[in-house]
Amino acid sequence: MLEKMEILDVEKLIGDFEVMTKDAENVQRETLKMILEENGCAEYLQNMGLNGRTDPESFKACVPLVTHKDLEPYIQRVADGAFSPILTGKPITTISLSSGTTQGKPKFVPFNNELMETTLQIYHTSFAFRNREFPIENGKALQFIYSSKHSKTKGGLFAGTATTNVFRNPQFKKAMTAMQSECCSPDEVIVGPDFHQSLYCHLLCGLIFHEEIQLVSSTFAHSIVLAFRTFEQVWEELCDDIREGVLTSRITFPSVRSAMAKLLKPNPELADLIEKKCSRLSNWYGLIPELFPNVKYIYGIMTGSMEPYLKKLRHYAADVPLISADYGSSEGWIGANINPSLPPESTTYAVLPNIGYFEFIPLKENVEGHMQENGNVSFLSTEPKPVGLTEVKVGEEYEVIITSFAGLYRYRLGDVVKVMGFHNSTPELKFVCRRNLMLTINIDKNTEKDLQLAVEEAAKLIAEEKREVIDFSSNVDVSADPGHYVIFWEISGEVSDEVLKECCNCLDRSFVDAGYVSSRKVKAIGPLELRVVWKGTFHKILDHYLRLGAVVSQFKTPRYVGPTNNEVLQILCDNVAKNYFSTAF
Ligand code: AMP
Repeated sequence: MLEKMEILDVEKLIGDFEVMTKDAENVQRETLKMILEENGCAEYLQNMGLNGRTDPESFKACVPLVTHKDLEPYIQRVADGAFSPILTGKPITTISLSSGTTQGKPKFVPFNNELMETTLQIYHTSFAFRNREFPIENGKALQFIYSSKHSKTKGGLFAGTATTNVFRNPQFKKAMTAMQSECCSPDEVIVGPDFHQSLYCHLLCGLIFHEEIQLVSSTFAHSIVLAFRTFEQVWEELCDDIREGVLTSRITFPSVRSAMAKLLKPNPELADLIEKKCSRLSNWYGLIPELFPNVKYIYGIMTGSMEPYLKKLRHYAADVPLISADYGSSEGWIGANINPSLPPESTTYAVLPNIGYFEFIPLKENVEGHMQENGNVSFLSTEPKPVGLTEVKVGEEYEVIITSFAGLYRYRLGDVVKVMGFHNSTPELKFVCRRNLMLTINIDKNTEKDLQLAVEEAAKLIAEEKREVIDFSSNVDVSADPGHYVIFWEISGEVSDEVLKECCNCLDRSFVDAGYVSSRKVKAIGPLELRVVWKGTFHKILDHYLRLGAVVSQFKTPRYVGPTNNEVLQILCDNVAKNYFSTAF
């Protein structure tokens, strides 16, 4: 018998959210109390001398701020199967592997039922707000989601990427059904062992159900762009499969083949229709609404390191709204997008005060405070003085600290956010950048965001020639004195040397940080170098991370490749087609 489909009561969800955010400070106190009561017996907290106290003041006085490195030995013991409670009261049964694109290798973080519950809560909350403005009918979602291999740690715990742990949980499917966003692809495609094959099958499923597709989504927007770039290459093959009702031989995994065989029937009319639609398009503009006439919106994380893909996504989407998905990490969720009609560039995330205990390190105050104390900028200390969720100030930037239900206490996430306003008494955050992604040689400091802006500016010059930057990264080359910035670009086609030289100068001029400009003027930093890499280089980088155990769903191109990330640097350097040095200074 079919299970009765549970549909979410969106008005109730919004009502609950309003009540909770009106009392954010108390909800935070209560949340901290619950976390500490549930986990007070864990070795980590026992050693902190809290002695049963659960108030924020004692918590902050006793428990230090930590990074992943500090917690690594504890998490390793959990992964190795320690019997006693180490980080949480209840045993941890699953480990998440974070995407590791910033560090070069995946990190272990604990995952538990509570984290799954907060995942569902955030999904439901943003869906409630989204559905009020962009209601979807009963249909299907074309979701470019992929789960990584599930392995076991030495101690027998399940280990997979956080998205894998979520996608494989039976609650996920129920939640998608309740949100009328059921994935059009069979499970075998989502968990398929080869991402290229799964991507092809997702596209095929989308075409089979083309009239029912209500939304196109992925965890991070990168996967959607990658999917439609792939479509441009394989659309004729997809049409052949639909015409004949036979799956291409390039799909080799029996489980995937047999799941697809159940859906694929010869349908020459559909094949003709898709061919006609594709040949009508100019440079694939508006591909998504052309293929999926009932699509209501496109959904996935589109802020931060995903912003560079928006231009291409808009090209495929034409006038279909782009809505950024929520803000979180393998370590825990932070905020929901409750203003879905804002364009991704203006998206903010309202913090849910009951999904964790949050603190914020003010970036400006720490710098200024110390400057005053010492009267000397070179004595800047980064000794952080965090503030609580409701104490943050509009217009200021902060680093996020999480205390979660999954065994992380005062954990520095490394993300920089800016407070744009408040929803009731909870802050609405704009994601700014990762804190540790920094181009720096001497007194210059350029973040991931600065790099993105410089690339956007210089890319305008090749846009005039109908070319685009497919992807980019950076590095500092200090092998000769003075060191210089290196920017790697993959471009969609040929561009003249003259224009690329101009792009290189434009990049150099677009880093407006005072430390950079003054160092360039006195030649303490050498001319910026633009290295154009062969087409497909960034795909090699993606494949490299997949081999390390990352998953496409969580992939973020590393925008800065540090000296310890040898292998990625090697891929980039081995694929340089041309290079240019700036003459801007
Ligand atoms: P991972 O744990 O590998 O999934 O990566 C989590 C990181 O992705 C976060 O710490 C952020 O740096 C980034 N991230 C997650 N959600 C967003 C978002 N909505 N906007 C921008 N960046 C995000």
